[in-house]
Amino acid sequence: MSVRVLPDSLINQIAAGEVVERPASVVKELVENALDAGADQIFIDVIDGGRTLISVIDNGAGMSREDLQKSVMRHATSKLPDDDLLNINFMGFRGEALPSIASVSDMTIDTCNGADENGWCLDCNINEIKPSDWEIGTRIRVKNLFSKTPARLKFLRADKAEMMSVLDVVKRLAMARADVGFTLNNKWRFPKNQDMSQRIADVMGNDVQGRMLQINVGSASDSSMRLTGFISEPTLRRASSVDQYLFVNGRPVKDKVLVGALRAAYMDVMHAREFPLCALYLTINPRYVDVNVSPAKTEVHFLEPSHVRAFIIKALRDALAKTLNHNIHFSGSVGTEKTISKPVYFNAENRPKVSSPHYAPDIAFMFKAPVSENKQSYEVNTPEQTPEEINLPLGRVIGQVANKYILAQSGDNLVIVDQHAAHERITYEHLRNHTIKVQPLLTPIVINMRAEDVEAVLSISDEMKNSGLHIDAFGDDAVAIFEKPADWDLNWAELLHAVADEVREYGHSSQLAEKLHLKLANYACHHSVRAGQKLDFNQMDTLLRDIEKTTRGGECNHGRPVYKIIPITEIDGWFERI
Ligand code: ADP
Ligand code: MG
Repeated sequence: MSVRVLPDSLINQIAAGEVVERPASVVKELVENALDAGADQIFIDVIDGGRTLISVIDNGAGMSREDLQKSVMRHATSKLPDDDLLNINFMGFRGEALPSIASVSDMTIDTCNGADENGWCLDCNINEIKPSDWEIGTRIRVKNLFSKTPARLKFLRADKAEMMSVLDVVKRLAMARADVGFTLNNKWRFPKNQDMSQRIADVMGNDVQGRMLQINVGSASDSSMRLTGFISEPTLRRASSVDQYLFVNGRPVKDKVLVGALRAAYMDVMHAREFPLCALYLTINPRYVDVNVSPAKTEVHFLEPSHVRAFIIKALRDALAKTLNHNIHFSGSVGTEKTISKPVYFNAENRPKVSSPHYAPDIAFMFKAPVSENKQSYEVNTPEQTPEEINLPLGRVIGQVANKYILAQSGDNLVIVDQHAAHERITYEHLRNHTIKVQPLLTPIVINMRAEDVEAVLSISDEMKNSGLHIDAFGDDAVAIFEKPADWDLNWAELLHAVADEVREYGHSSQLAEKLHLKLANYACHHSVRAGQKLDFNQMDTLLRDIEKTTRGGECNHGRPVYKIIPITEIDGWFERI
């Protein structure tokens, strides 16, 4: 067989296999192009899940006749003015999308750049440009997607499922750019210049209002990284990762390092099968990240993944540890000012104007105003509160209800504490902060593994030692366990293999720490005061003071809330006193 140089049409179809997997990927490419063209209003229409028609209209810069002609040529792009692949400031840069999509559909482009005397229309099937009366920006219509490649058509799912993927793509881009308006099928609308809190609520659902914690942290060691955005309080979670929005340098990604860090940060306060919500924007020096990995560009390569991971985990854990205090500021409708009667958590005015084609929102955050000092103090039938007591976040004990809940008054708030959840939280933190009891083994447990697995497991042996598991190499293809956490028997072979898999895929593993967490949580649960147990005032007071001192005190180890805070003004409302 002789070597044959493939014709362009075939090359494009092959490339399309990577770039346009399904309708949602077409939408992603076209909307990214619209954003790159500086549009601030984008209309997307999708018929029959994208099989029949995908139309994207933008009010961006448009194209000249020459540019329009070139735009559908392979590897033609306006976005790499020099040859520096590291400094990419646009969403797309490969110059592959338009020719690829055109090769597997009937595509037409209408565009107008405002400088030419009229607009232009390109019919990609016949490669013919005609003058058109199109006036602003660009409209790209993709009809009969994959009709030229029936094999690919077969892989499409039901229209509804494809539509859900399209919606997901649009939501991710809408979260990347709250300043831009997006409309999908006239049904989903994200208005332009939206306040970030409103954009988050529109995208994730109204239940997130007032329940997201702000993150805004720079890396301490150098200025190469910054993490901004929002994560959910631990009591707010989903059954899948749908509402996890992650961005690297303004680009939506589904990167394993980031997802893993998010999971690890919540490990203590959420089950493994529950998913926190987030909109997290990592800004990192382009020299430390390769975004040029896959055509779909949802994965990135970090030069130092463990560095990035550690930075993110710390930033998120610090924010979560503060939930005790924040909860008090978050709760209910304290105060009389209209502005704080609803949770307001962004300061839209301070948001910087967009200056480059893409940006990660640098969000000024405004938590609800704390309880104001000069307010009238309310008294329950308890002795006068001393100033110290008023400042106690969980307040002074009033009594116990149903042998299950502790009632307390804190400033102008009624506090209700779940005694079991509170004690469990304290016991767990206590256990966690004390070194684990280690049991040396007379006969080491030897586990046979492939050499690469041995290497993987040993690479995190220090970390495992901190969790009480001391392992070392045992020849080339085995490891031996010399010490294990006392009273703890597990299928160690299974665990170490799982650890090896994770290390080899992600460069780290949280298997052991997670198992340890579960064990501690169970122990704490069984050694905590039960619901139904009568407590005296001193016991109750100790419990409240201890929970105040406990990090992540707002959560029990199973992620349930430990206490609720009800402002007296809210109670006034029940009795129509306001
Ligand atoms: P890339 O985005 O990687 O450059 P594409 O194939 O997606 O490659 O687009 C090729 C070129 O066509 C872009 O570089 C841009 O100059 C032009 N283009 C595509 N879509 C638009 C649009 N909506 N508005 C203006 N120009 C566009
Ligand atoms: Mg593009």
